[in-house]
Amino acid sequence: MPRFKRPTGTQDILPQEQPYWHHVVQTAERLALRYGYGRLDTPIFEETALFARGVGGATDIVEKEMYSFKDKGGHDLTLRPEFTAGVVRAYIENGMQKLPKPVKLYSIGPIFRYERPQAGRFRQFHQFNAEILGVADPLADLETMLLAWDLYEHLEFGGLSFQLNSTGCPTCRPGYIEALVAHYRAHYDQICDDCKRRLETNPLRVLDCKKAQCQPVIASAPRITEHLCDDCRLHFQTLRGYLDTLGKPYTINPRLVRGLDYYTKTVFEVWAEGIGAQAAVCGGGRYDGLVELLGGPPTPAVGFAAGIERVVMVMKAQGVAVPPLPAPTFFIAWLEKSARPLAVRLLVELRAADLGVQMAMGGSLRSQLRQANRRGARFVLIVGGDELARGEVACKNLLDGGQESFPLENLAERLRRLEAGG
Ligand code: ATP
Ligand code: MG
Repeated sequence: MPRFKRPTGTQDILPQEQPYWHHVVQTAERLALRYGYGRLDTPIFEETALFARGVGGATDIVEKEMYSFKDKGGHDLTLRPEFTAGVVRAYIENGMQKLPKPVKLYSIGPIFRYERPQAGRFRQFHQFNAEILGVADPLADLETMLLAWDLYEHLEFGGLSFQLNSTGCPTCRPGYIEALVAHYRAHYDQICDDCKRRLETNPLRVLDCKKAQCQPVIASAPRITEHLCDDCRLHFQTLRGYLDTLGKPYTINPRLVRGLDYYTKTVFEVWAEGIGAQAAVCGGGRYDGLVELLGGPPTPAVGFAAGIERVVMVMKAQGVAVPPLPAPTFFIAWLEKSARPLAVRLLVELRAADLGVQMAMGGSLRSQLRQANRRGARFVLIVGGDELARGEVACKNLLDGGQESFPLENLAERLRRLEAGG
């Protein structure tokens, strides 16, 4: 048993996992930049009050899941449990409201939530997050949804679909909540204790309950889409019209909610086949009230966050291939100890010429060749013996076993051609 173990719910992302991560992050960044988003990096911790306000006191995240602490100066800080609050704080603090609209921002990094760990659910995980600020038109909703969709298409996911709902706005939501609460009161003896509590603190969240006993009550609950005001109904219709035009499959999911006043209108998730219960690979929606709530001017906004661990899980489950990371093609071995200084010089020169080269750290020639094989090299340069006396090195091709001698002069050029297959 090792003396130290990583904290529950965290992961070591080992080198052999990195091709997946690299591919996902690179694809996400390439698309975001190409679609006109700028990268924003915010601190990993913020004032606790920012999240209490920006995520909302009556949410699971704030009630149960935050990593909060006092630093040595007595400041109340929290490791970010999501990106949006920090992004909006940065938007206001850096005067981005003066920029031409829309302001499009993306971020990538670790997120912390004290959750019950299970497959696809961690306490430290990573998100790719994108936000569009300053546009009320459903075109902005569509634009964020397309970025999410295109990301998964570029990653070659199968079985993709949108889950879509509208959560209304402060005009129409109170009427809906009244109807919802009445329905729940009528079934009060059937629902779980958490939902009884939610009815008092954050009634919309009952729709999100995962307990078996609550499922029939959810299924028979009134639907918010039947309570939308004209503005919200038109917004929803327009967005659906765009999705229909583009032929993107979506399911209206009346259970999809964000239980807070400043989340408005559109809410969506992307689901992918292959990871069972944790099917959501991203979640997003509109939050027209948040910028103002955090002290900025009234600013409509919409965004989404994709969980990278879940994306990697889907890639594995669906057998999506990823390109390998760059690895050294060449390996330098030596015949006798006296050849080492030249081997080292060769290593440095070839690297300076931008070739991928490693060198044996010790052992007989046999064991050096074994090391080269194990490290995935394609060619071994053997320094020493008769070749060295002639100003040459032997080059062994590990794939076909062939060997030839190359002059030290212009060696880098020679090897570059060899690497390219010429
Ligand atoms: P869930 O319903 O799965 O708990 P959520 O509504 O809490 O998701 P969001 O806050 O919308 O999720 O976060 C966006 C995405 O981040 C999710 O779709 C998911 O892919 C990912 N995610 C959320 N929580 C975790 C976690 N604990 N571990 C790994 N990924 C997560
Ligand atoms: Mg959650």
